[in-house]
Amino acid sequence: MTLTPEESEILNNAIRDIPDFPKPGIVFKDISTLLNDAEAYGLLMEHLHKRYKAYKLDFVAGIDARGFIFGAALAQMLGIGFVPIRKKGKLPYTTVAEKYALEYGFDEVEIHIDAFRGIDKAKVLLIDDLVATGGTAFAAANLIDKSGGDCVEACFILGLDFLDGQKKLKDVTEVYTVIRVD
Ligand code: AMP
Repeated sequence: MTLTPEESEILNNAIRDIPDFPKPGIVFKDISTLLNDAEAYGLLMEHLHKRYKAYKLDFVAGIDARGFIFGAALAQMLGIGFVPIRKKGKLPYTTVAEKYALEYGFDEVEIHIDAFRGIDKAKVLLIDDLVATGGTAFAAANLIDKSGGDCVEACFILGLDFLDGQKKLKDVTEVYTVIRVD
């Protein structure tokens, strides 16, 4: 299930490039201009709904914070629960954690230990706005598996093809990217 060229153009035009944010040399992909465009946001969510309704998922898990926006909306459309994967120290109950390397140092993502409500090998779709190096999503996919779920696919609105994040992720799960950026 892929977008028509016209649909791709609507989505591409709705995402704004901000050069040199948050630091020189980075082109930040700003999805806020997609979210405030009802046609583009609706088109994207309908596309994701069409793709994932056949997957018989148990949960959608979104990565802190922009993954929540797409993940929670999609979970509602699919009639299933949403699970937040958060940066360290934000979740109030007992958590399972996974560390990952950054350019300098480490970061950590966490999930509640009972996030999948005790369902054995719950089928989980992981979602975030963008995959760059894939470090965050790799850790999040491992976290889902570590906490008793089965990460069946990682879905991104945008994928930076000049980095090898998507390739790296394919070792742990299937990958679907709506818009690929060369
Ligand atoms: P990574 O772990 O390198 O794949 O980075 C992915 C995370 O960083 C995602 O949560 C993105 O929201 C954010 N991110 C990385 N690069 C960009 C970019 N160029 N524009 C917007 N968000 C980015």
